[in-house]
Amino acid sequence: MRVTMIGTGYVGLVSGACFADFGHEVVCVDKDPSKIERLNRGEIPIFEPGLEQLVADNVKAGRLSFAVDGAEAIRNAEVVFIAVGTPTRRGDGHADLSYVYAAAEEIAGLIEGFTVVVTKSTVPVGTGDEVDAIIRRTNPDAQFAVVSNPEFLREGAAIEDFKRPDRVVIGVEHDRAREVMAELYRPLSLNEFPVVYTSRRTSELIKYAGNAFLAMKITFINEIADLCEKVGADVQQVAKGIGLDGRIGSKFLNPGPGYGGSCFPKDTIALVRTAQQYEAPVRLIETTVEVNDARKLAMAEKIRRAAGGDIAGQTVAILGLTFKPNTDDMRDSPSLAIIPALQKMGARVRAFDPEGMAEARHLLSDVHFAEGPYQAVEDADVLVILTEWDQFRALDLKRMKTLMRRPLLVDLRNIYRPHQARNDGFEYVGVGKP
Ligand code: NAD
Repeated sequence: MRVTMIGTGYVGLVSGACFADFGHEVVCVDKDPSKIERLNRGEIPIFEPGLEQLVADNVKAGRLSFAVDGAEAIRNAEVVFIAVGTPTRRGDGHADLSYVYAAAEEIAGLIEGFTVVVTKSTVPVGTGDEVDAIIRRTNPDAQFAVVSNPEFLREGAAIEDFKRPDRVVIGVEHDRAREVMAELYRPLSLNEFPVVYTSRRTSELIKYAGNAFLAMKITFINEIADLCEKVGADVQQVAKGIGLDGRIGSKFLNPGPGYGGSCFPKDTIALVRTAQQYEAPVRLIETTVEVNDARKLAMAEKIRRAAGGDIAGQTVAILGLTFKPNTDDMRDSPSLAIIPALQKMGARVRAFDPEGMAEARHLLSDVHFAEGPYQAVEDADVLVILTEWDQFRALDLKRMKTLMRRPLLVDLRNIYRPHQARNDGFEYVGVGKP
């Protein structure tokens, strides 16, 4: 099938490349010319494991191409995806739908023949109705149907998630469009990955409800971790003890510095706003947002306390800046709240991240960016592990100790065993440890 993807970011590029790999003919469009130039040169603008090869293979096979001007690709397409950003709208916390609506207008003027327009962006309930209305208004003769198909891929494992999804959700109320979507996803349904068909509004809400639940689960275990520290219990064992209950499940029960990233923060707030608007408040999620915001500053306090109460003039080495490993995405990363809070307390910050530093340089000031973990800890008074990149899991702590002014490890991801770190000469502070 001929597919056009409007927006070639984390979601558009991965989905476009994967659809091409399924055998479809895909054009990925982005209004950012530098992104398209890089892609046309064979460079991948984001860090995502496996993506470079997947893109290269499909470009070579002639199934995947890139364009700044999407006109021709939209005219030719049987399916046009909208995969543009839906950030938090300034001032009120609702999702900013201006990019989605602008894309809808653009598409409206160009489609020829029956075209399925699919919102892959995460959009509040009712957005599909508005996209439908925009296209109808702009081009009353257009033959089209608007479908919701939220994306559940996780950065860092995006290709695997797209090709081996827990489920695909398709919100469609139009028979012909349903057939088109079934054809598009046939490679997945053939392999018996569940494809769930719902109404468009239900599909839109599934995405928010899913993210809100996951954000709540993380926040739950973070609060239990705080309680563990007070009562002398071990949160990792608590997580294991509850996670083996099939109704709870063991995933997403790792305590840490609070959730961040390009989805959970904005999607939880947007859901809260939608629910308030419809006078059906989601108080659990309101609290989740509040608790998570407070947690980031609480982590800076935790580091200060570990350092002896006064961190002014001390050097803090931070390992990991992205909100999770295997991505270069810095959007709403906890590091962006924790580092400025430490600096406000008078600390000097040195940091290293395997993929996030290019972006972090634009977002953080007065940080010394190191070339590697060992350079980062030179003369440092505290080592803080903020993101659990694999390469931080087996550091030579004995060597680190010789480089630091004071061997103090604040492990906000619990990737070291306390007794192991202590055996290597470190004072160790984890999360939710007795
Ligand atoms: P992104 O910011 O990486 O990419 C969006 C791209 O769209 C940008 O490159 C931008 O230049 C382009 N764009 C905007 N308007 C355009 C237009 N009119 N024409 C052409 N290009 C245009 O965003 P993302 O992380 O890929 O997220 C996209 C959507 O998918 C969001 O709604 C997000 O919530 C959702 N989502 C993201 C993830 C994730 O892990 N990043 C996962 C699931 C869902």
